[in-house]
Amino acid sequence: MNSNEIDIHKELKKYFGFSQFKGLQEQVVTSLLKKQNTFVIMPTGGGKSLCYQLPALIQEGTAVVVSPLIALMKNQVDAIRSLSSENGIAHVLNSSLTKTEIAQVKKDITSGLTKLLYVAPESLTKEENVTFLKSVPISFVAIDEAHCISEWGHDFRPEYRNLKNIIKQIGDVPVIGLTATATPKVQEDILKNLDMANAVTFKASFNRPNLFYEVRTKTKNVESDIIRFIRQHKGKSGVIYCLSRKKVEAIAEVLKVNGISAVPYHAGLDAKTRAKHQDMFLMEDVEVVVATIAFGMGIDKPDVRFVIHHDIPKSLESYYQETGRAGRDGGEGHCLAYYSYKDVEKLEKFMSGKPVAEQEIGFALLQEVVAYAETSMSRRKFLLHYFGEEFDSETGEGGDMDDNVKNPKTKVEAKNEVVK
Ligand code: ADP
Ligand code: MG
Repeated sequence: MNSNEIDIHKELKKYFGFSQFKGLQEQVVTSLLKKQNTFVIMPTGGGKSLCYQLPALIQEGTAVVVSPLIALMKNQVDAIRSLSSENGIAHVLNSSLTKTEIAQVKKDITSGLTKLLYVAPESLTKEENVTFLKSVPISFVAIDEAHCISEWGHDFRPEYRNLKNIIKQIGDVPVIGLTATATPKVQEDILKNLDMANAVTFKASFNRPNLFYEVRTKTKNVESDIIRFIRQHKGKSGVIYCLSRKKVEAIAEVLKVNGISAVPYHAGLDAKTRAKHQDMFLMEDVEVVVATIAFGMGIDKPDVRFVIHHDIPKSLESYYQETGRAGRDGGEGHCLAYYSYKDVEKLEKFMSGKPVAEQEIGFALLQEVVAYAETSMSRRKFLLHYFGEEFDSETGEGGDMDDNVKNPKTKVEAKNEVVK
C-alpha cells in the first residue's frame, strides 16, 4: 500500500480511539510512512509511542522496537494487544521466553500477524535473532529511549552502541529514534551513533509554562523552611527529593513529627512497602512522598502541586524530569530547590571513585546545575537554553514564573544606586 493512500486520521481513530493527533505526531507518522529516517524529541508524556505504533499497525511487515526495560515493553505489548483481537499482533522477544514461546513468536512474525516486536538491545545482539529478523519482512526499526546510546544522557547503556551494526544487518529499513532527552549533546550522539545524520528531526517544546521555578539557599534551617512551605500548601500533594536513603527517612520523620502526613520511598525499602507508599500517595492518604530518585518512573499523578529538592540534582536533565512530575494537569506546580555549595562538593566526592571519563561528564553536568542555581536570569530561559531552545521571558508563555523574574536581584540593586 502506498503511504499516500492511507488515511492516518481514520486509522488513528480505528486503532486508538483518538480523534486527533497530539503535538507533532501526525508529522512524525507521515515522515516514517515515507520511509525516512526520523528523529523525535518530545517531553515525557508527549505521546512518543504512538509515533511508531500507528505506522507499525498500518504497514506490511513487522516493526522492531528496541526498548531498555522489560517492564516497559510488557506494558506496551499489553496495551497494543488490548487494541486488537489478536494476541500475536505484538510480542516481546527476550531471554526469559521458553523454546515454545519463541517458536510462537517466530510463527506469528512469519505469518505476517505480528506488527510490533519489542526487543531488549541485548537480545538483538544474539546471532540467531539477527539471522531470523534478516529472513522476515521488517517495516522499520524504532529505538525508544534513544538517549541510552549517549554517555551524556542520564541512562547510558553500552548495548545501545551495537544497534547501528545490527540494523544494517537486518536490512535497509527506515529507523526512528525517540527520546525525551533534549540536550544538543545527546541529540548529536544519537544521530552519530545510529548513523542517521540524514534523519528528519521533530522536536517539541520543553517549556512547562505552569511550573514555577525557585531556588533557595540551603541553610541549617532547611527543614523548618520546608515545613513552612508545606503548611502554606496545605492539603496539596508534593514530592520531596533527597540524595540519600538516610535523608529520606529523616525528613519523612521530621514531617510526621510536625503533623504533616508523609511516607518515605527509596530502593532500600522492600517492594511491598514501596508499592504501599506509592499507592497511599496516589490515593491521597498522604500529602507528601519523601523520596530518592527511585521514585517517579511511571508515576502519573496529575495533581502534584510541588516538587522540592532538598539536595541538588546531579544534572539539569534530571532536574527537569523530576520537576516535570508537578502540575501534569496544567494546574499549579511549584518547583523549589535548595542549594548549597557543600552539597556540590559532596556530589563531586561521590563521583571521584568513578572512571575518569565518567567523572568528567559528571562534573560538567553538575557545573550546569551550579550555574542554574546561581543565575540571576530567568530560570525557565536558562533551563530551556540548556535544552537547545531559545526562550524570551518577556513574551514567552510562563515567562514570569520564577523567583528571578518575579524578584529581579540586579534591578533592585540598580534602583538603590539611582536613589540619591
Ligand atoms: P511518551 O512516551 O512520550 O512519554 P506516551 O507514548 O507514553 O508518551 O503517551 C503518553 C500518553 O498520551 C498516553 O496515555 C497516551 O495514551 C496519550 N496519547 C498519545 N497520543 C494521544 C492522542 N493523539 N490523543 C490523546 N492521547 C494521546
Ligand atoms: Mg515513552
